[in-house]
Parts: sequence; C-alpha cells; structure tokens
Amino acid sequence: MNPSWAGILGVAFGAAAAGLVVWPFAGATWAWAAVGAVLALRVLYHAIHLAALHAWLRRPTLETLPRGRGAWEEALADLHRLFKGRDAEQQQLLRTLARFRAAGRALPDGVVILDRENHIEWANPTAARYFGIDARRDFGQPVTNFVRHPDFVAYLAAGEFADPLVLRSARSDAVLSLRVIEFGDEQKLLNSRDVTAEDRLDTMRRDFVANVSHELKTPVTVLSGFVETLGDESLELLPQQKRRFLGLMAEQARRMQRLVEDLLTLSALESGAAPEDEQPIEVRPLVERLAEEARALSAGRHRIEIAIREDCRLLGSPKELHSALSNLVSNAVRYTPEGGSVRLAWRIEGARGVFSVADTGIGIEPRHMPRLTERFYRVDSGRSRETGGTGLGLAIVKHALTRHQASLEIESELGRGSTFSAVFPAARVLAAGVAKVAA
Ligand code: ADP
Repeated sequence: MNPSWAGILGVAFGAAAAGLVVWPFAGATWAWAAVGAVLALRVLYHAIHLAALHAWLRRPTLETLPRGRGAWEEALADLHRLFKGRDAEQQQLLRTLARFRAAGRALPDGVVILDRENHIEWANPTAARYFGIDARRDFGQPVTNFVRHPDFVAYLAAGEFADPLVLRSARSDAVLSLRVIEFGDEQKLLNSRDVTAEDRLDTMRRDFVANVSHELKTPVTVLSGFVETLGDESLELLPQQKRRFLGLMAEQARRMQRLVEDLLTLSALESGAAPEDEQPIEVRPLVERLAEEARALSAGRHRIEIAIREDCRLLGSPKELHSALSNLVSNAVRYTPEGGSVRLAWRIEGARGVFSVADTGIGIEPRHMPRLTERFYRVDSGRSRETGGTGLGLAIVKHALTRHQASLEIESELGRGSTFSAVFPAARVLAAGVAKVAA
C-alpha cells in the first residue's frame, strides 16, 4: 500500500480506537474529545514537519535537510537520496564546466563564444586581450562593438566562413587571422590567432622577390637586346655553331625576361592594395582583343572562336584583368595541339558574369587540379618550357581574380580538353555602356 495512505489510515484507526476506549468510561462527549485530541496531535506533528521543510527550502543544502519521524522519516529520506544524486550531478557538471573554461583559458588562440545574435557569451583571456573585452562588463554585448573593422562586419554578415579573415588589429600592430566556426543552435565560435610573425615573413619574402626581379629587369633587358641585335646583324658572318649558340642565348634571354616580368606582375598583385585603376570595361572589345592575341600566338595552327551572349561592362582594373584573362587564353593555345580549337565565351549566369576559355587540348588529370594555381607548379615542365611557359601564369590569374572577388573554375578531361572559367560577382557586372546601346 502507498505509505501516505497507510499513514492516513493509521491516523483514522488511532483516533477511532481512542474514541472507542474512552466512550464506555466517560461517555460520548469525552470520546469525541479524545478523537479530536488525537487528530489535533497529528495535525500539529505534520505542521511542525512542514514548517521545518519550508524553512529548509529557502536554503536547501544536503547537510541541513531536516530529519523526520514516522511517515515523514521515509519521505525526507527519499528527498535526501534525490537531493544527494542531484548534488553529485551538479558537482560533476560544475567540474566539467570548470575544466572546459580552464582549457579555454589555457588556449594560445583567442576564443569567443557568440549566441545567435552574435552577442558575446564568453571569451577567453587571449581574445579579451586581442579585442579589449572585459569579462565582467562586456559579456552579452554585440561582438561588432569590439571588432569594428568593416571587413569583419561584412564577413560576419555574409555568413561564408570557409576561409579565415586576416585583419590588422586596431589596438596594436598585431595581425590576426579570424575564423568563425558554427556549432550547436546557431551559435558561433570566433577563433583568433596572432599571425604577425607569419605576415612579417611573408612580407619579407614578397619584398625580396620583388626587389630581386626589379634588380634583374634592367640587366636582362640589356643583355637580351644586345643578343638580339648581334643575331640580327652578324648572323650570316658567323660559323654555324656560333650561330646556334647565339640563337640559344637569345631564346634563354627571352625566357628570363618573361620570368622577370611575370614575377614583377605577381609581386604587384600580391602587394595587397586594391586595384587603383578600376573602371567599367566593355566586355566585347576585351574578348576580341584576347582573340586577336590568341590568333597571333597560334599562327594559324588552331581555330579561334568567340561567343558573346550579352554585351556587358565589367568593373575592374583593365591591366589586371587583361593580364589574367590573356594567361588563360595563351595557356589554351599552348596546350592544344595543332588543328584543335579554342573558344572564348562570355555569358551571364544567375547575375554573375562568366568568362570562359574552352580548348580541345591535352587536358589535365584530376589529381593536378588543386595545385595548378601554385607558383611554378607544372603538370609537364618540359612542355611548359617548350611553349614559353614560366609556371606563374595561373598564379597570376588567381591573384588578379581574387582582387576582383572573382573565382577560377577549372573543368578538364585528359586528352579531350579543358575549360577555365573566371566567375565575376554580380556587383562587378554592369549593363553595356550608353554609347554602345545607342550605336
Ligand atoms: P605555365 O607557364 O607552365 O603554363 P601556368 O601557371 O599557366 O604555367 O599553368 C600551370 C600548369 O597548368 C601548366 O604547366 C600546365 O601543365 C597546366 N595547364 C594550364 N592551362 C592548361 C590548359 N589549357 N590545358 C592543359 N594544361 C594546362
């Protein structure tokens, strides 16, 4: 039987028994008085226990839980067991939380936990130092109150967190790499790492390459000029072997010149500053010019075609975009055997502008694809050199496109050909110029 029912029945029997015992000796009045007294004692007993429980509930701790008698003894023992279990669970949770916090504090990287509104829930001391967050005062504030850089605000709003964002700290000279990791219920973890040393090394490497290329430019140009002149003037007078040497010298000098020029182009693109000469460029004349250059390079060995679906203007640096797209076009000609075709196309896909160069050339094995835009990465270095390649073309393409928020997409099949596409964001694609429409 349920212990509380047993208790109630016990009280009822007790009161009835007291009444029945008193009745024969003292009459009905005293019998009812005895019943009332027993019931009153029981009520008092419960009231005392209830008052003790009520007082305990205001500050419930395991040590101060009141002890009871009778039915209360069992009920309070159950409560004791329950409370003890909960207390152990809570202690375990608190220990785990403390361990996580200690681990977060020990991390050399900055960690900020953001809620779904990008408000700070927690930050470790490293992040607090990077962004000037005060743990007592600033939890609950929007993170953009502390990382105010417009690039970060745009990065957070865009919700595209595949790549980290590199920022120069507003509070110091530090360069930070920020990465947002989404987790749980639309929560975010903002990880920040000090990359000042790497950035300094990278700048030194860039400056070194730029300086060396710059220093080499003049001597190489002079040498190459003299070798060409010598070859032009005295070729018939020289014995055949010397003539061959001179030819080789001229060829290598030209190669060095191309290499120095590509290195300088790459250094300029890597310098970080956004292109200065951005302007709307009519796409059709640009594509026609590229096709002319392809024809000159092909010297009649390939069929060169143009397909422009829509006349548009592209917002960008004419110099950088020409440099990028002409590299794609010259690759298509250089890696397509005689008799093949190269097709230059422009189309609007969604709202984005796509310039593509499709060839029927040698194609590329899938395993090489991820590395093609690395400096000096070549699938076949013999063929690249033979056709006048420097191994820097696609690195230039990638950098120039990145500076225009555009991406490079590559599709290729070994032995059948490749399509390289430069995909420009909608914001860079404008309607054709007024003059063009009126014409
Ligand atoms: P390179 O000066 O050697 O052509 P790039 O950086 O322009 O250097 O290209 C890197 C490599 O990618 C090339 O060496 C070549 O192996 C491969 N490649 C580029 N474009 C094509 C293409 N259209 N068809 C086949 N292979 C290509």
